[in-house]
Amino acid sequence: MSTMNVKEQKRLQAEIEELATRIPRKASNALQPDFVIRVLKRLSEFSGECETCREELQGLVGQIDELAKGSDPLSLGELRPLQKRMDRAVSHLQNRHKLLVQGQSQYIYIAVGLSLGLVFGLALFDNAGLGLAIGVALGAALGSGQDAKAKKDDRLI
Ligand SMILES: [Zn+2]
Repeated sequence: MSTMNVKEQKRLQAEIEELATRIPRKASNALQPDFVIRVLKRLSEFSGECETCREELQGLVGQIDELAKGSDPLSLGELRPLQKRMDRAVSHLQNRHKLLVQGQSQYIYIAVGLSLGLVFGLALFDNAGLGLAIGVALGAALGSGQDAKAKKDDRLI
């Protein structure tokens, strides 16, 4: 089976939502049920043509089934393998399939904006604070522009 059918998706969704009630609060954002489900859907979309997606999808589904039998609440140790798989699947989707994680571009652009802002703030205005403020504003605007464009092209995970 290369892609998930609707029944399997529904089963996983229910299982992940049940898992979410057992995930401790300090667990990472990457384990939020909506995000996990979006990643699974993307892997499923590509798994017809991409072997890595097929493997990652199977691995994630296996991990989720495994956790479903785990303790309540789940320990961070139990969640670590899922976290690792999620990280790997997300970087594959980003690198190979050019997908973006919502908010991530903004984060990157703001970081770039900050460092450029510092340099140009000092060089042009002799004022690091002004440069930083402009850098953050520009970074945030460029980042949300990237997100909007990716959403339009259906490239957001
Ligand atoms: Zn792939």
